[in-house]
Amino acid sequence: MKWSEPITKLKGIGPKSAEAYHRLRIETVGDLLSYFPKKYDTFEAEQPIESLREGRLVTVLGTFTGTPRLISTARGSLLTCSFRDATGQILVKWFNQPFLRKQLVQAKYVLLRGKVTRDRKSLCILQPEIYTPERYREMMKTLRPVYGLTAGLSKSAIAKEVAEALRECEITDPMPAAMRRELGLWSLRDAYEEVHFPKSEETTKDAIRRLAFDEFFDFLIGIRSLKEQTETIPNRFPATTTNNARAIRDSLSYSLTGAQERCFAEIAADLAGNSPMQRLLQGDVGSGKTVVAELALATIVEAGYQGCLMVPTEVLAKQHFAELTRRLAPLGITVGLLTGSMSAAEKRDARERLSLGMTQVLVGTHALFQQSVEFKNLGLVIVDEQHRFGVEQRGRLTDKGMTPHVLLMSATPIPRTLAMMLYADLDLSLLDEMPGNRLRIRTAVVDAGYRPKAYKFLADHIRAGEQCYVICPLIEESDGLEANNVADYAEVLKEEIPDARIGILHGRMSASAKNEVMEAFAAGEYDILVSTTVIEVGIDVANATVIMIEDAERFGLATLHQLRGRVGRGAKQSYCILVQGSDSDEAKERLTVLQTATDGFAIAEKDLSMRGPGDFFGIRQSGENVFKLADPIRDAEVLALAKKTVDGLTEEQYRKAVKLRVADTEGNVVY
Ligand code: ADP
Ligand code: MG
Repeated sequence: MKWSEPITKLKGIGPKSAEAYHRLRIETVGDLLSYFPKKYDTFEAEQPIESLREGRLVTVLGTFTGTPRLISTARGSLLTCSFRDATGQILVKWFNQPFLRKQLVQAKYVLLRGKVTRDRKSLCILQPEIYTPERYREMMKTLRPVYGLTAGLSKSAIAKEVAEALRECEITDPMPAAMRRELGLWSLRDAYEEVHFPKSEETTKDAIRRLAFDEFFDFLIGIRSLKEQTETIPNRFPATTTNNARAIRDSLSYSLTGAQERCFAEIAADLAGNSPMQRLLQGDVGSGKTVVAELALATIVEAGYQGCLMVPTEVLAKQHFAELTRRLAPLGITVGLLTGSMSAAEKRDARERLSLGMTQVLVGTHALFQQSVEFKNLGLVIVDEQHRFGVEQRGRLTDKGMTPHVLLMSATPIPRTLAMMLYADLDLSLLDEMPGNRLRIRTAVVDAGYRPKAYKFLADHIRAGEQCYVICPLIEESDGLEANNVADYAEVLKEEIPDARIGILHGRMSASAKNEVMEAFAAGEYDILVSTTVIEVGIDVANATVIMIEDAERFGLATLHQLRGRVGRGAKQSYCILVQGSDSDEAKERLTVLQTATDGFAIAEKDLSMRGPGDFFGIRQSGENVFKLADPIRDAEVLALAKKTVDGLTEEQYRKAVKLRVADTEGNVVY
């Protein structure tokens, strides 16, 4: 069986399950094999019941006590039973698994592994797996892959089909054996087998190393060719005068930082240069990227061309639209807005103005570029928070019409050495200086016992008319629980701070529902926004002064820094409370870095150096989800190896790789 064969060729996949796979964008056998686990579960030692905390995946050892209760509800059956160890007792629940009742024998020691959730006031364990002590000891030595699931596809179904695919599919390794040996990389087949059916942590790392190498290799070939393409293109949108920029500068109530001046000078030189700009403006949250973007947009308009600014969310689009209008309208520049939630008529109108050249600067969401938008003479595209963009998207920008200048803006504090590899196709401008008027965000690392005080702190700030964010503990096992988890947390919070107006936000909400909540929060209609990490880059509210992050140790420092950047955006003193869920000293030490460090780049470097081997399969380390499995920060060594390999290719090898990359529809990397 071939890599490109449809999955329905596999035994056990009929039209119905093919539909479920389709939702996961798995169409071919190769897609299935490349559907890598999101992470790996390790089987930790059991914990005493009295120490359990909400939101955790835990294992407890004890016995069932009392009679199991089976009731039927509107949504199906609910089986409950009490479970006890020497330190306490807890309720256990299973939905739609009535058959488990037989297994709930009293007085026999078993291990339960499941998620701790809150059931009104008390904790309970939801849907745990049941193990005998012997079996669990075995499991403790292994890793278990966790796949992203969808309705109608269980983890065991996926595992079964992956096994079938591994048996049936020819996996030809494009990398010559000699090269593999030299680089110390596994064969492709072995790597695929191991990531799906891990034997040990060590071997799984080896497998990931190989697959990450391929992803990086492919990526680096892609950007090298992208770079070559753009270098040969002439600058069709030269902009040489900067009177508009000077006028904006004069209108500001502050003076630009040295870094802002330097970065704009670099951009202005590109705009006037021989080939289109391909530049990344990297600057920490709050470093003042927006005004630099405004200067660039005003400059391109002065030369008679249009500019556009793309941002990740609708709320940000509206905020930027207001800000740009305020700055640019006095210069006679017309700013337009285009977002998904506008009515069809509004969109049509906005598009028409654009194609006629009546709108000179357009602000819109990233999604905008998936559709066709016609400009009269688009000269500059600025993409804010670009770190979610891969080579394909970058290439697509260049394809749009006449190869305009492109400026990507990112706050992702990835170490410079990595940035140079990931953005090799781009010139780099660094905003490495914060505006001087900034108050430092006061950051505290506390343990769960501090929570009542933290709530009181929130309440005080709300009373003072300020707003707060609370980032909920992560729910990992099943995304379906995410919504409940956020809602439950909000309920608890409501009891603690009764007069607070609380909004909730999570990844399971529709885009428009998310948008509504963010907008209401920005308008001051909520005091607290309880959220998952979806707010990472999507919101900018100057009146928000406190962010409380639960289970902080489960995030990478870079992510925490990014989240913390949601506050401290106005003139008021802001605060970040990092609540540590585990008692680990190592975790505490890692978090403490944030108490003193304020520079995102330094934090990213530190994170890299402090990371222990145990973190390998857990924390997602960077916001880059351009890659399926590779993580540029975690796998920095492999990235460097791939870079060296790509750089070392002869011209002929490289040409071949590019050609095959384009021709290769099978998803395999070709050497
Ligand atoms: P980011 O780089 O995170 O996008 P913004 O562009 O949103 O940062 O800027 C954050 C805030 O800092 C804004 O309120 C902006 O007006 C302000 N700001 C930008 N540059 C300066 C400066 N040189 N001096 C003082 N305040 C500035
Ligand atoms: Mg910004």
